Amino acid sequence: MTVTPQVEQRIRQLQQQLQHASYAYYVLDNPVMEDSVYDRLYRELQDLETQYPELIMPDSPTQRVGERPATQFQSVQHQVPLYSLENAFNGDELQAWDQRWRRLAPPGAIATYVCELKIDGSAIALTYENGVLVRGATRGDGVAGEEITQNIKTIRSIPLKLQGDNPPPRVEVRGEAFLPLDVFDQINQEREQAGEARFANPRNAAAGTLRQLDSRVVAQRRLDFFAYTVHFPGLAEEEQPLDERSQWAALEWLHQVGFRVNPERERCASLAEVQAYCDRWFTARQELAYMTDGVVIKLNDFGLQEQLGFTQKFPRWAIALKYPAEEAPTQIDRIVFQVGRTGAITPVAEFQPVHLAGTIVSRATLHNGDRIAELDLHLGDTIIVRKAGEIIPEVVRVMTDLRPEAALPVQMPTHCPECGQPVIKPSDEAVTRCINASCPAILRGALIHWASRDALDINGVGEKLVQQLVDRQVVQCVADLYDLSVDDFQQLERMGQKSAEKLVKAIADSKAKPWSRVLYGLGIRHVGSVNAQTIAENFPSVEELSSAESGAIAAIYGIGPEIAQAVAQWFQIPANQDLIRRLQAAGLSLAQTVVSTAPPAQAALFAGKTFVLTGTLPTLSRDEAKALIQQAGGKVTGSVSAKTDYLVVGEDAGSKLTKAIALGVAQLSEADLLALLNAASSQP
Ligand code: NAD
Repeated sequence: MTVTPQVEQRIRQLQQQLQHASYAYYVLDNPVMEDSVYDRLYRELQDLETQYPELIMPDSPTQRVGERPATQFQSVQHQVPLYSLENAFNGDELQAWDQRWRRLAPPGAIATYVCELKIDGSAIALTYENGVLVRGATRGDGVAGEEITQNIKTIRSIPLKLQGDNPPPRVEVRGEAFLPLDVFDQINQEREQAGEARFANPRNAAAGTLRQLDSRVVAQRRLDFFAYTVHFPGLAEEEQPLDERSQWAALEWLHQVGFRVNPERERCASLAEVQAYCDRWFTARQELAYMTDGVVIKLNDFGLQEQLGFTQKFPRWAIALKYPAEEAPTQIDRIVFQVGRTGAITPVAEFQPVHLAGTIVSRATLHNGDRIAELDLHLGDTIIVRKAGEIIPEVVRVMTDLRPEAALPVQMPTHCPECGQPVIKPSDEAVTRCINASCPAILRGALIHWASRDALDINGVGEKLVQQLVDRQVVQCVADLYDLSVDDFQQLERMGQKSAEKLVKAIADSKAKPWSRVLYGLGIRHVGSVNAQTIAENFPSVEELSSAESGAIAAIYGIGPEIAQAVAQWFQIPANQDLIRRLQAAGLSLAQTVVSTAPPAQAALFAGKTFVLTGTLPTLSRDEAKALIQQAGGKVTGSVSAKTDYLVVGEDAGSKLTKAIALGVAQLSEADLLALLNAASSQP
């Protein structure tokens, strides 16, 4: 492939950025970025270097394992190098690894896999001669590490002498030195009290501890150790003490001679079993007393391992499946500006898809112009995106070192991207807004809000339909919905007669929705469904509300002056007054069917009676039904007992209904309830 200046620049920037991060991580034990961010950038560099091998620098982080720390310990050559592990970030990559080794293995090779937790600590190499620990070393760059025998001897779970008779003349044990989480927290607390910087993670804390010059400090830190690999240099296969030449047998042997071996290891007969193990530990890891950052999967059979061998950095017969990342770097493709129903313009970043917390993410909101300025966002930037569990993805920061040359800063538009009219940005607000009342985006938002569940709840009026209605200019305001005929709908794409009839009926049925829902559906700023309900109860008809001063509205308990003002202003706008008239003409109910100042006959209606509500009622919300019952003198409680007089039953009623039947409590449907109330209110 031909090298473009952009590619060359990106590779150079990635190499520098990763080198800087590696140094901070391995030498200073003080990482400058999340591991997941490092891993993705590393992968990107690796991919680019595969495509453009002529751009690989000898000191590129992809060409070396770890770092040679600059310390005062003596350097030791490892007899058998300590390799790193290849990473997989999801099940597909795990499968790709499985196919890769199978292509290199003899045809029909059958594999047993050994799954081990990937302990987040620091790899160390231990040398035993005639059963006695003679040397301990850090991994270093994999070829040479630092001699830290004194420090290692303070780790109680490392035997100074191997158990059993006739130890092999020389044994090389590899494993992970780590700090249990409680010790890690304690160390950080102590460091904080002493005015020192906290360790970023247990791995860096373990690595830092191992390289303490004073062994007494190491002893206090209570490092622990799990062994996971053993070599017998110079010993022929048949002389080796293992029951069989396999990873599993090696772990068993390590256990027998006195090492701690992680008890969660498991043998798996298929990749599906491996995946199940990983899935299980992705959750269960939270319960562990030490930190893990994935699962290591190894082919069990040493014969097969030897046939596959190593790349420059990794064994081909093992892979680490990392836990789903919550933070990852990615590059911005473009910024789109969305116009909401209030005219607010929201910038949204669209970027190269990334796996985050188990899902694929390719866009995240940037909220507003202030946030863009705060991030100092430029087109083509590499950003860090975060998504934890159920949380909506967000752009956390920009990696300015990876910015392309001459990148332009992202700016909020001066004109609405939908209608082309100039936008406004009040100096005291973060939001940029389109204020053109006939902007199609605002109309679409208004229609969708009108039809939404808590408003007029019109089934079938969703984004796609609304887009068509607005694009074809069939609808200019929500009141137009009530003029549409079956024929009108049938003109739309993929709309059969049945669906068109259903829509017309759903729209007509919405006319029966109570006044509070209509008020909410109007989409007045700050008026959510709860506020709408409160206002509707106090101003039981549109006439009363539209003629009210904002002070009178603000007098309602729970309604602040800002809301009150928004409502009063809304009703002063002639176009809105028109809308109200048209809605009334269409037959919508813009007044409480049961007025809140209940006539005496009604107030007495439910006096002394106790009600319980269950399930979803067809038109009334729970709060609406509750208010109606209370206005008629009744009491509403949360659970059914022998004292309950009526259970008001909606759809999907649960255990309350079962209990009510058992206790013989009378049941009412919503229709029954309304009929009782209406009958009472129409009495003289
Ligand atoms: P690695 O940590 O991804 O995997 C290899 C290591 O896994 C081994 O050396 C060993 O220490 C450990 N391990 C734990 N349990 C094991 C088991 N059961 N069997 C075998 N090995 C086991 O690779 P690495 O080369 O040590 O480090 C690279 C990683 O370090 C990167 O993936 C990155 O996450 C992190 N790193 C982060 C930064 C940063 O800035 N945050 C910088 C450099 C490296």
